[in-house]
Amino acid sequence: MIDFHCHLDLYQSPPAVADESQRRGIGVLSVTTTPSAWNGTAKLAAGRSAVRTAIGLHPQLAGQRKHELALFDTYLAKTPFVGEVGLDGSPECRTFWEDQLEVFDHVLQACSAGDEKVISIHSRRAAKDVLNQLDQYSQIKTPVLHWFSGSHSQLGRAIGRGCWFSVGPTMLAGAKGRDLVAGMPKDKIVLETDGPFVRVRSQVLNPWDIVTVLGPIAELWGVSEHEAKRQIEANERALLAPVASALKADY
Ligand code: MN
Repeated sequence: MIDFHCHLDLYQSPPAVADESQRRGIGVLSVTTTPSAWNGTAKLAAGRSAVRTAIGLHPQLAGQRKHELALFDTYLAKTPFVGEVGLDGSPECRTFWEDQLEVFDHVLQACSAGDEKVISIHSRRAAKDVLNQLDQYSQIKTPVLHWFSGSHSQLGRAIGRGCWFSVGPTMLAGAKGRDLVAGMPKDKIVLETDGPFVRVRSQVLNPWDIVTVLGPIAELWGVSEHEAKRQIEANERALLAPVASALKADY
């Protein structure tokens, strides 16, 4: 199984978390928050087949770091994975909203120009705006909405757009999140931790904690945990299929 959204470089000991994920056979999509973090973060994937690195520029940093877009373009050629990118409509991020729009638009344009990319997208309090932007880039086939928390009508729009969804333990812990997950197509869901930012009972989540989502998902779907795992693993293969050739070439 694969953790599709993890900030591996921000753990206290990234190599230890990477090694343990590798040992347990848990895949990690290691997202970056700034292009300048790429070199250090990509090193964590060296010699560890379970780890893949995504190039990102987090919307909360768009104001301070938009000058790194040229670096983003440089590293984009090295990976089929992009993230963390997107928009954040929280009041504290509204002050640099124009920068966010500029950065996300640049990212989507760059991603639609070349080979297929898997894109892990943040949309907190900005689901409508993220979907508006995605609608302008129909060439993008594999957007993955990370920790989606929009309305049900926005969820309907995202499903219509063909979005994937990565869901984590915290989403499944609350009624609103569970309700949204119940409304997502079963064949469009993969798992994530968003570690180390996310804690459950004061413990930082590690990539292998994604398995704790299987129980709640199985319950929502009315199937066994075994069947939920089978479905999620089939989803992971389908999601990665468009970038399979890039994976073989790069790693
Ligand atoms: Mn994140």
